[in-house]
Amino acid sequence: MTLHADLHRHLGGSVVPRILWRYFQRHNPEMAGRFPEYLEFESFYTRPRNTLDEYLELHTLVESVQTPHTLPYFIYRLLRGAYIFENLAYLEIRYTPYLRTDARLDRSARIEQMYEVIRIVGEASREADYPIVTGQILCMHSRLPFEVNKAIADAAADLPEYVCGIDMAGGDSHYADRLDEIVGLYQYARSRGLKTTGHVYETADGCYPELLPYLMRIGHGIQIPLREPERLRELAAAGQCLEVCPTTYLKTGTLENIYELKVVFDRCFEAGVDTAICTDNAGLHNVRLPFEYENLLTCDAIDFRQLQACQEAAFRHAFAWPHVRPPSTLLERALQNGDPQQEPLLATY
Ligand SMILES: [Zn+2]
Repeated sequence: MTLHADLHRHLGGSVVPRILWRYFQRHNPEMAGRFPEYLEFESFYTRPRNTLDEYLELHTLVESVQTPHTLPYFIYRLLRGAYIFENLAYLEIRYTPYLRTDARLDRSARIEQMYEVIRIVGEASREADYPIVTGQILCMHSRLPFEVNKAIADAAADLPEYVCGIDMAGGDSHYADRLDEIVGLYQYARSRGLKTTGHVYETADGCYPELLPYLMRIGHGIQIPLREPERLRELAAAGQCLEVCPTTYLKTGTLENIYELKVVFDRCFEAGVDTAICTDNAGLHNVRLPFEYENLLTCDAIDFRQLQACQEAAFRHAFAWPHVRPPSTLLERALQNGDPQQEPLLATY
């Protein structure tokens, strides 16, 4: 049995269409009226978009229903599905907490409410009854003002019991005008001891080498091996890891075929750059993590040896995995060698 780690999953895109449709049927008459039939909703929700911006619009639909009041409902179902259908042992959930606050409040009240949101997400993750190690990554957002993004970094640093890292999201083509500001935010985050990842080099319009020195992991980053492979040695030396989310590139029109990722993996392996395979928006795509692996294999984008290396890299680069080794080692010890530190394997009934 393989247990997986997913390092890149958005809370907004994590709700599978069936759960969201049922939520609308129960609690949102307007959406329920717009989509009385499930299949109609599923095809609207999961269909490919033409651009990354168009695709990100869908997040606003989910953000609008993920309020402090409803978050435990969605998180419970997220972890239940992740444990039962995906064999996840570790999950980093990322989101922009400011966008889950009450939009009727003024900015400073919304910033204050972010702390409540983070605690709610953290407690709901712990109470879910499924043995998955979780951590939150807070996303600063390219369309939010500096003051709010800095407050997001502060909240991340103030609540280490719930938050394991910081990210920048919102569409990488929008960074260009504010690049100095974003560099400043990452410098600040590092000065507060935060672990960092960032959506960058996802699309051809999102290549900003200026941000790379501040990132421990690179959210997507596929345009580096595709367009600037000369940078890979530097990434390897810095121990940076790419978070590759295969289905996303098909849904956003970034790639036409999943096989195009073969060159991404081959160049990274050759240069010694670790890659973790992630879902990004498993609900929105209706594709769970084990199927991301399987799809890559069946399309010959990776082989089994590379697949296993990616699985191990995910645990090695996890910001909040509490063990030195991946769970396969722990399981092997418990199942085959009968480690005396573990519970007895055969219960005496
Ligand atoms: Zn993402």
